[in-house]
Amino acid sequence: MNRLPIFLNLIDRHCLVVGGGVVAERKVTLLRRAGASVSVLSPELCNGLQDLAEGGNITHISDSYRQSFDRRFWLVVAATSDEHLNREIGADAESQGILCNVVDDNAASTFILPAIVDRSPVVIAIGTEGTAPVLAQQLKSRIEQWLPRQVGELAAQAGRWRELVKKRFDSLTMRRRFWQAFFDGPIADHLLAGRQREAEQAMRAELVGNCDSAPATAGEGWIVGAGPGDPDLVTLRAQQLLARADVVLYDRLVSQEVLDFARKEAEFIFVGKRAGARAMSQQAINTLLVEQVRKGRRVCRLKGGDPFIFGRGGEEALALADAGLPFQVVPGITAAIGGAAYAGIPLTLRNVAGSVTFATARLNGDEGPDWARIVRGGDTLALYMGTGNVAEIRRQLLHHGVAAETPVAFVENATTDAQRSLLGTVSSMQSLAARENIESPAIIYIGAAVAAASELAWFSGGSTAGRFPATLHGEAVANVSM
Ligand code: SAH
Repeated sequence: MNRLPIFLNLIDRHCLVVGGGVVAERKVTLLRRAGASVSVLSPELCNGLQDLAEGGNITHISDSYRQSFDRRFWLVVAATSDEHLNREIGADAESQGILCNVVDDNAASTFILPAIVDRSPVVIAIGTEGTAPVLAQQLKSRIEQWLPRQVGELAAQAGRWRELVKKRFDSLTMRRRFWQAFFDGPIADHLLAGRQREAEQAMRAELVGNCDSAPATAGEGWIVGAGPGDPDLVTLRAQQLLARADVVLYDRLVSQEVLDFARKEAEFIFVGKRAGARAMSQQAINTLLVEQVRKGRRVCRLKGGDPFIFGRGGEEALALADAGLPFQVVPGITAAIGGAAYAGIPLTLRNVAGSVTFATARLNGDEGPDWARIVRGGDTLALYMGTGNVAEIRRQLLHHGVAAETPVAFVENATTDAQRSLLGTVSSMQSLAARENIESPAIIYIGAAVAAASELAWFSGGSTAGRFPATLHGEAVANVSM
């Protein structure tokens, strides 16, 4: 670490910005936001600075730079358009013991300005020691997205309650325990959700409650969609809840990268099917979910795709509702949507496809799906759970009047590094699936709009995103006959 991040108290301190252009103006704005009393040294000012000067918000010293600084200046920013002059200002400031930032010149600066996420009083500074400012900006916007909007209010409220908590708990250890539980518990949940009144009520109850106990946690069940695979497709809400969960129940379709959004201390329970072992029954999962929430834990039931599309999330929500326990449901990008986007299949397409059906091709006991209804359902069909059943799907489609030359696509491991997409027709789908050994998880798309994938496929997995997938332009594409 070549630079130590510190937070300077600039309130009412005299700071000098040398330069009168828009770059100088940006620095002036930043310093003023931190409460500094700012002077600008420059023969001329840009419009923005002119306005500030006229409004009495900055002091304009209408002069050119001459080597020594007034002793009241505590910090200087060299922001003229002349690099050499800026460096000179930096050296002069250094020799006079004044903190100096030289814009765009890491080496000549005693301090550099980080990218800032400002949710005051929570402030996050990101620096790259001047090596990659654009990267710092990108990290900043990621943090902006990830950080709950109300986190500043959470911190401010904690600050207002600090004295009360100090009075309530004598020992430092107890206070620390209290705050640890506080930021992780229902009062913080209320504040983050903007429920100020509930937060105050809960806090009052806490402070008159049993002095030895940390805040009671109110259990809640979160039924959360993890998206189709690419961790970047996980919603912000899912990430925020994962970061707060005490328990995470997950299954096979949820990747490690997505699980990494959860706290390391959370308890992870695998409830899916492992090779060779039997899956936990749905009834057992429902019971586990209810039990854990009843214990006062925040349980995140994480599911591939969307929880309410072939995810049995409905049954789990019902189990919680029947038990009278609170729950939330967070949508996810379902596999058919994710796979269509990443394989270049417009599920609806003007003048080609005006409706889309999500259906499962899985046989349920002896009863097959109602093919007549599925086929009638939409111009584009997206079939889940069909890979083991391609011959039967083909037979049913043909039997119910779907033309043999209708385009078909298989998208396997959609949105992940391992994505494969193959194009064919209803007629060729069985031989294609067999030859290419299509395996679960995959979506089978059927319909005229599917043909667009031969032009629109843009994703080829992993770091080579953007290259055309070989399979679409190689052999498989030749199977499209229209
Ligand atoms: N709730 C999930 C669906 C679970 S059912 C969702 O909304 O996506 C399991 C089926 O989903 C699999 O058999 C497969 O058809 C589909 N599936 C899930 N993930 C997939 C992926 N990454 N690529 C292709 N299909 C996927």
